[in-house]
Amino acid sequence: MHRFSLDPSVSATDVGRSSPCSGVAALSVAACAAITDHMSVPIVHHPAYCASLPANHRFPMDKFRAVAALIEAEGLLGEGRFYKPRAAPFDWVALAHDPVYVDQVFSTNVPKAVAREIGFDIRPDIAARARYATGGTVLTGYLALEHGIACNTAGGSHHARWKQGAGFCVFNDVAVAIRVMQADGVISRALVIDLDVHQGDGTADIFRHCDSVVTFSMHARKNYPVRKVPSNHDIELPDGASDNSYLAHLAARTTEVLKRARPDIVFYNAGVDPYKEDRLGRLALSRAGLLQRDELVIQTVRQAGIPLAGVLGGGYSEDIDELADRHVTLHRAALACAKNQPTVQRTTGHVQTG
Ligand SMILES: [Zn+2]
Repeated sequence: MHRFSLDPSVSATDVGRSSPCSGVAALSVAACAAITDHMSVPIVHHPAYCASLPANHRFPMDKFRAVAALIEAEGLLGEGRFYKPRAAPFDWVALAHDPVYVDQVFSTNVPKAVAREIGFDIRPDIAARARYATGGTVLTGYLALEHGIACNTAGGSHHARWKQGAGFCVFNDVAVAIRVMQADGVISRALVIDLDVHQGDGTADIFRHCDSVVTFSMHARKNYPVRKVPSNHDIELPDGASDNSYLAHLAARTTEVLKRARPDIVFYNAGVDPYKEDRLGRLALSRAGLLQRDELVIQTVRQAGIPLAGVLGGGYSEDIDELADRHVTLHRAALACAKNQPTVQRTTGHVQTG
């Protein structure tokens, strides 16, 4: 069986502080779990998540820095540290994308038409950002298996399809993580619950002929992408849908989807662009509605005894502090859930890092 090595010197160290795991070459992720407060939720972050973009670019790149700062300020980190991922290597990314495209990104040689569809010129720091964010979601998946729940501070690049990126998404980090974990033999089946306001077309494209991965997207019908790729389960909402109807649809479908999918892990895209004041959303959720949404998903999945890996997804505002506060809803909900439930410890035996 092929095994993917998660090098502990980069996967289980913190960002800028001492930690029980840093610098201990032989420690596995499982060993780190044992010394982590069981009431905490592992949170993954890397400074490279925040690349530079031209001033006034529509994509709010600074939010990744602001999200990490807010998580630290609120004391949401177990042991006061982030888990730090490695950059996803070529072999991982090519499990979910056309190797020709992966090579174009790695060598920063992406055709102009493709870069236009993505919305960025693929310079070295943008390529590195995509690789670190993808490595982050892979690590989040493994940590979720060990701890029951884990969250990234980036990820959810769901418009990237097999052939290429699109819509501010370079690599589909969730699809890569699922493919890596399947190839490693630590999971067989996965469910993607995608509540970003935009449809998860790239994820649906990558898994369209795959019976072991179930995709569920709830989104605004009239929003990007114009041409949607059918997921296994799609709920299309009309413009202006607000808390009550949104949560009613979600509650009615989530349990059923979970039961039918029989996943070994759930990847949850907690995009905050369904918020009523989001620049690119067309729905009308309140802040309280977003929190209830995250709690509903996390509690439903965790009560079923299934590990959950949370990723950030989309969110758009010129007010970066407001946006970061909105995104951290996921991490707050995850921690509240972890405190209310016993941690499911699954010893996979495959999450070897040394
Ligand atoms: Zn979105």
